[in-house]
Amino acid sequence: LIDVQKLEKKYGDNEVLKEIDGTVAAGQVICVIGPSGSGKSTFLRCLNLLEQPTSGQVLFEGKDTQTLNETELTTMRERMGMVFQNFNLFPNMTVLENLKLAPIRVKHMSDAEAGEKALNLLKRVGLGEKTDVYPASLSGGQQQRVAIARALAMDPEVLLFDEPTSALDPEMVGEVLAVMKELAEEGMTMVVVTHEMGFAREVADQVWFMADGYILEKNEPNELFNHPQNERTQDFISKII
Ligand code: ATP
Ligand code: MG
Repeated sequence: LIDVQKLEKKYGDNEVLKEIDGTVAAGQVICVIGPSGSGKSTFLRCLNLLEQPTSGQVLFEGKDTQTLNETELTTMRERMGMVFQNFNLFPNMTVLENLKLAPIRVKHMSDAEAGEKALNLLKRVGLGEKTDVYPASLSGGQQQRVAIARALAMDPEVLLFDEPTSALDPEMVGEVLAVMKELAEEGMTMVVVTHEMGFAREVADQVWFMADGYILEKNEPNELFNHPQNERTQDFISKII
């Protein structure tokens, strides 16, 4: 579904991504782990072209994303939903309005249809009662579940998560991970940057370890966590587990 080839990203002289290769197959869950500053967020943002790669290619459904015109680029971004650390909900809109906005504006869905869809998604993330409240009145865990529902409202092919639980109080991490796990079980393709090693171990098909702009190691979670091959991976894992 996503094919990354020799992806490089520089900010001035700072080479943040170096010859990244990787494939995300439909239905796969990839967890990306690694130390702060290793390039995880930049990598994720290059996948949907929120950042322009310096060189190399990202193919989405076989198409080089850098050759897309404006319309195709918009469609591609709709098909790659993104969930951020800080939820990024629209504060001046109710929960239901947050979910309805893009389907109505971008997909030209009717208000009634978008509303029905939004309600179903909110029920799915356990927030069917919260349609008419504003994001500020929700807990962090609830806001993040709304953000996931909002991403799902566009029927994405892939969901990209950038540390979706890092901004949450510990007691709220579980409810968000539970929603993500359910999505994974339903076959959603996901690329998840996370520090939640339990989640990576349990849910990921593959874990990719990033350091210094390289993906140093890719493996099934059990292999990667129990038998890391690279010294940097060993060091990282010994510090966090
Ligand atoms: P963290 O775990 O702290 O979120 P990360 O692995 O997501 O870290 P990135 O945010 O991708 O790391 O950053 C990698 C490097 O790229 C850092 O050295 C950072 O300073 C640099 N960088 C990221 N975004 C920009 C930008 N817009 N302009 C200049 N440098 C940037
Ligand atoms: Mg980051």
